[in-house]
Amino acid sequence: MKPQSEILIVGGGVAGLSLAASLGKTLGKRRKARITLIDKSFSHVWKPMLHCFAAGTVANENDRISFITQASEHHFEFWPGEVVSIDRENRQVVLSPFHASDGSLVLESRTIRYDTIILAIGSCANDFGTPGVKQHCLCIDNLVEANVFNEKFRMELMRAFAHGSELDIAIVGGGATGTQLAAELHKALDIVDPYSLHAFGKTPPKLRVTLLQSGPRILPAFPEAVSLAAQQELERLGVTVRTSARVAAADSTGFILKDGTHIPAKLRVWAAGVKAPEVTQTYGNLSLNPTGQILTHSNLCSIDDDRIFAVGDCSFIKDDPLPATAQVARQQALHLARHLPAFVERGVKVPGCVFKNKGAIVALGKYNGWATLPGGTVWGGGFFHGFSARMAHLFLYRRHQIELFGFYRGLISLYSDWIETFVRPSVRLD
Ligand SMILES: Cc1cc2nc3c(=O)[nH]c(=O)nc-3n(C[C@H](O)[C@H](O)[C@H](O)COP(=O)(O)OP(=O)(O)OC[C@H]3O[C@@H](n4cnc5c(N)ncnc54)[C@H](O)[C@@H]3O)c2cc1C
Repeated sequence: MKPQSEILIVGGGVAGLSLAASLGKTLGKRRKARITLIDKSFSHVWKPMLHCFAAGTVANENDRISFITQASEHHFEFWPGEVVSIDRENRQVVLSPFHASDGSLVLESRTIRYDTIILAIGSCANDFGTPGVKQHCLCIDNLVEANVFNEKFRMELMRAFAHGSELDIAIVGGGATGTQLAAELHKALDIVDPYSLHAFGKTPPKLRVTLLQSGPRILPAFPEAVSLAAQQELERLGVTVRTSARVAAADSTGFILKDGTHIPAKLRVWAAGVKAPEVTQTYGNLSLNPTGQILTHSNLCSIDDDRIFAVGDCSFIKDDPLPATAQVARQQALHLARHLPAFVERGVKVPGCVFKNKGAIVALGKYNGWATLPGGTVWGGGFFHGFSARMAHLFLYRRHQIELFGFYRGLISLYSDWIETFVRPSVRLD
């Protein structure tokens, strides 16, 4: 009997998990291929919501999706671990040893064989070599980092409560991450407000958030009118928005701008630009762009190896680069889900992936949101804002959940989240 083809998906994020679930249904269930997902962690989170975890306005226990249950429901296998290198000659990946939180060894370093591999390991913050950022700034690239920020945010708030002082937070990067985080922090403080008088006998401290953007406007990927309106909304909340502000260095007291201005900040967040995780450098000498992303053809196949595909933030289409967004990651995963079965079963080449821009959405907490409409439609280039845009932002996450849980369980999850708002505070207070 012909041995099953081995398909390895590295990274269970926006692209990787939905791809594993789809291929599990089309190939895994019929035993046409063995699908294995590898991820550094045990659970998936929808990364565009990380700023809400960081602010504590979303309970991350409910919003983590276990890889193990997904694997058993969708006919794929799951292994925890970090892929640290790829041996292209012998078609195998090397996983680093897996340790428990107390440091004890759980799993030795392992190798796993593949016939086809899909790399979907996402991205991390790019500090562009700015001095002091590594030592003095927090990033929000994964759940661990979001939780570290949240812990520090709550402790600094407590300190400010106790001393009746103000809390300064500076965020570098006026893209979707920085802008949404600035608003979400204010939302967290608004929710805390009614509790504070009873618990601490004091009014909440004043939060002073400064958003630093090197370019002339925030949200540069959106139309100018959206950038302007979002800046006004943030300023109405009390956020200081500084555009054309280039950060030269960070230290333990704040940021130093190129013009010498010092921006004081107790908490410093770096959310300016992304690069691929450094580990791509050890992935079998694959060609990378200057930010470490794996160079691919338009069919998402590496330019060096037709058994290796790369999708989402860790990849870069050589002749038609796309932004590192969830929309791109999702469309690329859907493309491979559609075409990999024929590639695996009959060797049919995967066709080029054509990206369809479906617009973009940004939500500023509970305060406002903007959604741009896709080009090429009668409304092309327009945008809408307010409640409907905020709901559209939420819809993207719920659609993702429904795709993974199935329609009815997705709806039940939505309903139970709503029910929970009646029994728990909608901000993390512990
Ligand atoms: C706070 C925030 C807000 C955002 N908001 C938006 C938004 O509003 N709209 C939008 O379109 N985009 C947004 N983005 C960007 C969006 O989240 C990413 O573009 C998207 O998640 C990329 O998907 P991905 O599958 O490539 O990677 P990810 O979703 O990041 O998944 C990568 C996975 O790989 C795993 N992994 C990493 N390295 C390894 C390794 N060596 N071995 C094994 N596993 C590994 C990780 O654990 C993770 O599960 C936001 C990002 C952030 C941080």
